[in-house]
Amino acid sequence: MIKKIEKINFAKSILKWYKKHKRDLPWRKTKDPYKIWVSEIILQQTRIDQGISYYINFIEKFPDIQSLAHSSEKKVLKNWEGLGYYSRAINMLYNAKKIVSEKKKMPTTFTELIKLKGVGEYTAAAISSICFDERKAVLDGNVFRVLSRLFNIESAINTSSGKKKFSELANKLAPDKNIGDYNQALMDFGATQCTKYLPKCTVCIFRKCCLSLQEKTIKHRPVKKDKGTKKKYRVLNYFMIKDHANNIYFQKRLNDIWKNLYELPLFESKKIISREYLLNENILQKKFPNIEIKNIHLSKQVSHNLSHQKLEILFWKINAENISLKKNDNIKKILNTKILKYPFPKPIKIYLHESLS
Ligand code: SF4
Repeated sequence: MIKKIEKINFAKSILKWYKKHKRDLPWRKTKDPYKIWVSEIILQQTRIDQGISYYINFIEKFPDIQSLAHSSEKKVLKNWEGLGYYSRAINMLYNAKKIVSEKKKMPTTFTELIKLKGVGEYTAAAISSICFDERKAVLDGNVFRVLSRLFNIESAINTSSGKKKFSELANKLAPDKNIGDYNQALMDFGATQCTKYLPKCTVCIFRKCCLSLQEKTIKHRPVKKDKGTKKKYRVLNYFMIKDHANNIYFQKRLNDIWKNLYELPLFESKKIISREYLLNENILQKKFPNIEIKNIHLSKQVSHNLSHQKLEILFWKINAENISLKKNDNIKKILNTKILKYPFPKPIKIYLHESLS
């Protein structure tokens, strides 16, 4: 099976295709490992059109590893705000600080790159192949799709045996030279030609040898094993508390999802609660002992999906006085005009923009 496709010299064909159809992306203009690292981390779990503006902004603010290393976590997270998976940014900052403090440069090999915090096989292979021409084939969602269809592979891509099989095949097909372009060619081919829903098979350079096209299995490739994981359901009640001096109260998330970002004071409930419940159970008094509530209403309710959790978020607007903070509490107050200087998770940022404008 593989031999038949190898005969058409897979790498040569895909590189020829790439020359003509390569996407014009900002990180394609450089081989600076720092910039490629930034682009690869941003693109994990992020659509390319969204990733481009974040990449341009990030490189403008932190043009090299030194500028990133000397920045604060708050500033880095503010520039990551809305992208999600915030540990990616925190890990990059950690790595930059470590590399610069040890007076080192960005690692140049797969083996060294993979030791960086948050850098997995895919990212290490992408950086080492694109910047240093190391013969390492990358495997991302696009590559899995292209290979699984071309070779009509039934192994599930989310099992370790499946991953091993795909990795062996990808490395076997990889050329000895020009590996960076080859990897990017395969990713572009998957993103624009062999797409998830409407692959352009009639004009595909591999239409004569694509096994899935012959076997009519395209829409069943790649195979993914259903792991039956059910998303955890959570209800987050956020309190937008305003006092007479236009202060708003907020806190830093110390763990859990959105760690190290900021949020409004929170009460997590098992199910959706009413205004009466909040008042009768003295929920706010547990956080602010002397609080005098002038009025309270549900201002917005929104559902927000994370990879493993389904969040139902309720924003309660409250006018109140006598808001004394408990000693050693994480909650702080700030003038409403200044709160957006802090990094917030996307749904909270959207809400703050809406209610403060
Ligand atoms: S023929 Fe269709 S399914 Fe096969 S590689 Fe080309 S675009 Fe993908």
